[in-house]
Amino acid sequence: MTTFSPFCAHPHFEEERTDYLYSHAGNYLLVPNTPVLVCANCGMIFYDGAVLEEIERRFFAIQSHAEAPDQIIQLPSMAYA
Ligand SMILES: [Zn+2]
Repeated sequence: MTTFSPFCAHPHFEEERTDYLYSHAGNYLLVPNTPVLVCANCGMIFYDGAVLEEIERRFFAIQSHAEAPDQIIQLPSMAYA
């Protein structure tokens, strides 16, 4: 299966890992080591749909206490304005 960049239609990606922050209704799930595809042509980053679905599944599993997170962290926050 070949994936094409939604940005420039280039078919070649490099797979890297990043910290992904999922947010929904004021709740957050930080997902370290999330696979991300980086376009070899234009450098835009792109997440695989299955990866995002798995992150969403884990988020709701944790919200409903069906699964426990690896750890609980506090996020400092300060509005720009
Ligand atoms: Zn590209």
